[in-house]
Order: sequence, then structure tokens, then C-alpha cells
Amino acid sequence: MKANHRRQSTYTGEAMSSYRMPASNSNANPKPSKKNVIHIGGLPIEFPYQPYGSQLAYMGRVIATLDRAQRDGHFHALLESPTGTGKSLSLLCSVLAWQKNHRSKPQYGNISHSKPDPEALVDPLGHGGGFVPEMEPSGNLMPTLSESNNTKQNKTRGPIIYYATRTHSQISQVISEFRKTNYHVPMAVLASRKRYCTNAKVRGQDNIDETCKLLLKERGQKKVGCPEFGNANKIRSHPSLKKGGCYEVHDIEDLLKVGEMVEGCSYFGAQAMAEVAEIVFCPYSYIINPQIRKAMDISVKGNIIILDEAHNIEDIAREAGSIDAEEGVLIHGIRKSLSK
Ligand code: SF4
Repeated sequence: MKANHRRQSTYTGEAMSSYRMPASNSNANPKPSKKNVIHIGGLPIEFPYQPYGSQLAYMGRVIATLDRAQRDGHFHALLESPTGTGKSLSLLCSVLAWQKNHRSKPQYGNISHSKPDPEALVDPLGHGGGFVPEMEPSGNLMPTLSESNNTKQNKTRGPIIYYATRTHSQISQVISEFRKTNYHVPMAVLASRKRYCTNAKVRGQDNIDETCKLLLKERGQKKVGCPEFGNANKIRSHPSLKKGGCYEVHDIEDLLKVGEMVEGCSYFGAQAMAEVAEIVFCPYSYIINPQIRKAMDISVKGNIIILDEAHNIEDIAREAGSIDAEEGVLIHGIRKSLSK
């Protein structure tokens, strides 16, 4: 893979297909449009600009992947494109359009947009498109505000989009693209305590995870604990995060501001929002690390998993399966086992 190419994976199961997006068509019209509806495979997709040919092709692959996953129960694709070709926007618009269409079907059982729309003006690939098939997790096992079951949620919410990136700054970039779309579905941004803690006495500490866990333990023993934890639910219900609010589409800094306004914990506030979100942005580790996934109640099954910059996945998976241990501790452990 060339260094200036970015790769994204849309994981919906085990099978795999790959596609490399061509460089953008310089003749395409980059002017923004309020509501520019294109049709791919009969599925209407609202796109904020006149799309490049390469963007149409990319969206066609995304739709074909999701259709195939829906049909076979699982599927995934590797999609690659040069930097600056509008890949994130194409991905977001197509996957959100597919999700919207899927939700509009009774019991989410049949997403048949399989008959091409006769009014389709643009369908570059035809139906199916000839498609062949900074890590800083909290890593905690603390309870969330309400214990929920993701499988149950799927039945009521349909497939949830999990958009995972390597760093928090990449999350902000993707959210700025999400802001451009017409699909402002309920969202959440998961991040670490280091990013989100609003307790002035704890924020900035090196061992913030441990301190927080101790405080919440104290709370259980009816000691002082962390007062911000008790106000975390005020974040989810804050008007600025509702439809039409200034933070309806928000990033980590925005949610932190809301937390500070209501003196509530943005870390647990974000988790509460994730329980009702239709798109959840998070660092890789929340998807790759099974412990964090379990703690955050994230289920891969039945959901749409997008891994941005997916060439990093090998390293992240290796990290998730590794531990750091000092030599002395290792030697002590080995001696102990040998002496048994
Ligand atoms: S509950 Fe939230 S605000 Fe309180 S210490 Fe933990 S992370 Fe910080």
C-alpha cells in the first residue's frame, strides 16, 4: 500500500473483498448542494456535494458490502483511496443512508431496495455493482450508568454503526465530515477518562483510572465519591445535544464543555449516550480489545464496524493481546511456578 493512501475496513463478518478507489475526477463539480440525492442500487443517498465518479464508485462498494452482509449474515470489505478524495464523507453518507433505509423496514428484516429505483438518475455500478465479494482506553470494568444489553438494543435500534479510529484527533476529523451530512442520527463519542474527566481534583492525574475507580467504590460505601458521576445523566438530556442543538453533532471537546456546564461526568455521560446512539465514534481499542468491548457493552454481531486507517490494525491487535511486565516480576513469577 502506498504511504499516501488511506485504508478503511467495513467489517460485517468474515468474508472479505477489497477495492482501491481511483484518484478523483478533476472535472467533477465540487460545489456544495443543500440536498443532492443520488441513487445507488436503488438506494437514495443524500450527498452534500456533486460527487466525484470515484466517490460514487466507493459508495457503491459500501452499499454492496452491506447488502451482502445482510444477505449472508456477515461480510467485510477493505476499501482504499488516496488522501483527499472525500473517502470519509462518501463512507458516512452511504452507510448512514443504508442504515436509514434498513430502519424504515418492518422489524429490520427485509431491506429490499433490491429493485432499482426507476427514477434513479445515477447508478454507476448498477445494482450490486459487479461487486465481488493513540490508544488510551480506560480498560475498566466499572459499571456504566445503566446496565444494558447490546443484543436487546439491536432488536429495537437495528444495526449500530461503530466508527473506530486510531487517535482522538482522527475522531474529530471524521465528526467534522459527519457534520456535513444530512444524516444527523443520535450519536456518541466514546473516549478515555483522561479526555473526559470533569472532576477537577482527579483530572490531570497520571493514575486517573485507578483514582476514579476508588472514588466510585467509596460512593458505593456511601462515602463522598465523585459528585460529577451523579450528574452524568444530565449530559444526555442537555438541550444543546438534542436535535437542532448546537452540539447535536459534537466531538470530545464539545461533550467535555457540556459536562463542565452541568458539573457532570462526560466519561459516563458519553457511555449513557452510546446506549441510544445509532452511530458511535470510538478509538480502535474499544472494538479490538475484548475486555474493553465487554466493559462498554459493544457487540460486533449484527452491527456495522468501520475501522479507519485499517493498516494499523495489526499493531493494535498485537497490543491488545500483550502485557507490559517488569523483568523482576517475570522472574519472580517463573521462580514461583518452578518451585511448585
Ligand atoms: S466519575 Fe467521571 S468525573 Fe468522576 S473521577 Fe471518574 S471520570 Fe472523573
